[in-house]
Amino acid sequence: MKHIRNFCIIAHIDHGKSTLADRLLDFTGSVTEREKKEQLLDSMDLERERGITIKSHAIQMEYIYKGEEYILNLIDTPGHVDFSYEVSRSIAACEGALLVVDAAQSIQAQTISNLYLALENDLEIIPVLNKVDLPSANPEEVTDDIVDLLGCDAEEVIPASAKTGIGIEEILSAIIERIPPPKGNPEEPLQALIFDSVYNPFRGVETYFRVINGEISKGQKIKFLATGKTYDADEVGTLKLIQHPKKVVKTGDVGYLITGIKDAREVKVGDTITDSANPTKNMIAGFENVKPMVFAGVYPVDTEDYEELRGAMEKLQLNDASLVFTPESSAALGFGFRCGFLGMLHLEIIQERLEREFDMTVITTVPNVSYHAYTKKNPDEKIILNNPSDLPDPSSIDRVEEPYIKATIITKADFVGPVMSLCIEKRGIITNQTYLTPERVELSFDMPLAEIVFDFYDRLKTVSKGYASFDYSPIGMHESKLVRVDILLNANSVDALSALIHADNAYNIGKKMVEKLKELIPRQQFDIPIQAAIGAKIISRETVKALRKDVTAKCYGGDISRKRKLLEKQKKGKKRMRQVGNVEIPQQAFMAVLKLN
Ligand code: GDP
Ligand code: MG
Repeated sequence: MKHIRNFCIIAHIDHGKSTLADRLLDFTGSVTEREKKEQLLDSMDLERERGITIKSHAIQMEYIYKGEEYILNLIDTPGHVDFSYEVSRSIAACEGALLVVDAAQSIQAQTISNLYLALENDLEIIPVLNKVDLPSANPEEVTDDIVDLLGCDAEEVIPASAKTGIGIEEILSAIIERIPPPKGNPEEPLQALIFDSVYNPFRGVETYFRVINGEISKGQKIKFLATGKTYDADEVGTLKLIQHPKKVVKTGDVGYLITGIKDAREVKVGDTITDSANPTKNMIAGFENVKPMVFAGVYPVDTEDYEELRGAMEKLQLNDASLVFTPESSAALGFGFRCGFLGMLHLEIIQERLEREFDMTVITTVPNVSYHAYTKKNPDEKIILNNPSDLPDPSSIDRVEEPYIKATIITKADFVGPVMSLCIEKRGIITNQTYLTPERVELSFDMPLAEIVFDFYDRLKTVSKGYASFDYSPIGMHESKLVRVDILLNANSVDALSALIHADNAYNIGKKMVEKLKELIPRQQFDIPIQAAIGAKIISRETVKALRKDVTAKCYGGDISRKRKLLEKQKKGKKRMRQVGNVEIPQQAFMAVLKLN
C-alpha cells in the first residue's frame, strides 16, 4: 500500500487533460509503440469525434522512483457537466488530483467546480500549469491566479507542456511525494467503491472499483449494498491498456470485476461492493441514484418502427444505465417513448447512437425538465410531470415547482454587463460576484434549469464573444409561475409542441415559436394557420401560405409512371417529417423552441 498512488486529473475542457494522461502513460512506458494512439483514454468513437471524455476509465502505471517501484492508478473523469455525479465518484476513489490549468486561458468555470469536488473529498491538489510552450502563454500571471485560488506557494505549481513533455518527470515525482498512499485496513471486511462501469457485449458489465478496506478475490461471493444483489466474482484484475486478471486485488488498489451481469442498471456508480458472508457495516458515503435532468419524447419517423425502437432503447439501456424511458403516446406523433437524460449532451449522444448503431430515424420532441405540480384539492400530494402535456387543468393547480441550479460563470470584466443581462433574462438571480483578478470575474446565479436547456450556451458564447466559461450544479425545486403554451396547426393542438413557460415570458415566447414554425414548416397545397394558445386563449398567429402550384398538376392526365416517380422523389425528401393531421412537420420544428433567437 505504501507504494500505491491513486489520482485523477481535473481540468476545464481543452486545458489538456487527455494529452497529459497520454504523456504520463508514455513516460512510464505503459504504452508500447504499437499501442500508441492519440488520446488513448477516449476510446468511444463518439468521444473521439467530439473531443470529450464521456465515460471515465482507469489505468495503472508502474514507475520506478528513487529505486523503488510504485503503482500509479490514474482514474479518468468525464469532462462535461452532464456527468458531474460520475466525476464526483471518480474523485472519491482518489487521494490526489492534478489540477491542470491552461497557461493561456487561466482558471475557468470547470477548473473551479472540479476543484471544489476534489477539496470536498480531501484530495491533495497538485497544480499543473500546462501549455507553457504556447507563444500566447502567460505563465507568471496564471501562476499568480492559481496561487490565489489554492492559497499555495508559487513553487508548488509545476510548469508543464503535455505536448512537448516539459515537466512530466516533475509531475510524476510530485504524485509520489505529495499524494498520500491509501489508508485502508486489509483485515476489515471488503469495502470497495464502484466508480464506473463499462458494458461489454461479450463478457457483460465490467465494474471498475477502488478497494477501500479488505480485498477482493477471484471466486469470492460478493454483494452490492445499494441493490442488495449477490454475485460470484468470476474475474478480478487490474487495468492497464488491457485487463490483467489477478487472484486478488488488495486494499488501496484499483481494479475491475466481472460477474456476468448483463444489465448496466444493476451496477450503480457510487455503490459499495462487500463480501456477502462477512459484509461491511458501512456503505461508502455519497451514493446517489442517478436522476435524469432532461426529458424528451422519442418517436419513430415511421409509426411501424415502434417495436424496433423499443428493442433499440432496451439495448442502449443495457449499456447506459443513466438512460430511462417509458412508453407514451402523443395525439400528434403516435406511439413512442418519454426518455430521461442526464442533460442535453446525453440526449444528443443517445439520438446519435440510435442512428449509428441501430439505424433508427427518430423524431425528438422539445426537451423539458421535470416539474412538480400540486392541485388545490390535494396541495400536499406531489405530481411529477416529465411531459408538459401532463399538466393538470390550470384552474385546478395550487402551485408548480421547477428545478433550479447554481450557475457559475467566469468571464472577462468587459462582459460582466452582457452576461448579467442574459442571466437575468433567463430568470437568474445573482448571488455572488468575485473579481478573481482585475480582468476576470466569477459570477454566481440561481437559475431555473429549464433556461439552461433552452439555448443558453450559444447565447452565452455570443454575448461574451467566447470569453465565458460555465458550469452548474442542481440546488433543488423552487415554486414558479408556469403556464403551458400550446401550439395549434390547422386548428389542431399538437401536444408534442407544448411547453411549460414562465407566465411573464409566455406571450413573447409563444409569438417567437409561431414565427419560427412559420419558417420551418414547408408550404403545402393549402394555407396552414399556426397559433399559440394558453388554455383557450390564442396569444399569437401566423399562416404558412399555400403553394401556388400543385407539383403533380403538370402530369395531370399524363404519364402515370412519371407521376409516380415524382411522388416517390417527394417521399424521399420527406425523411424526418411527421404527418400530423394533414400537416407535415419537419424534425427541426420540434426543436424550434430551443432556438428562438
Ligand atoms: P482535454 O479536453 O482537457 O482532455 O484537452 P486535450 O488533451 O484534448 O487538449 C486540448 C487541445 O490542447 C488539444 O488540441 C491538444 O493537442 C492541445 N494541448 C494539450 N496540451 C498541450 C500543451 O501542453 N501545449 C500545447 N501547445 N497544446 C496542448
Ligand atoms: Mg479529453
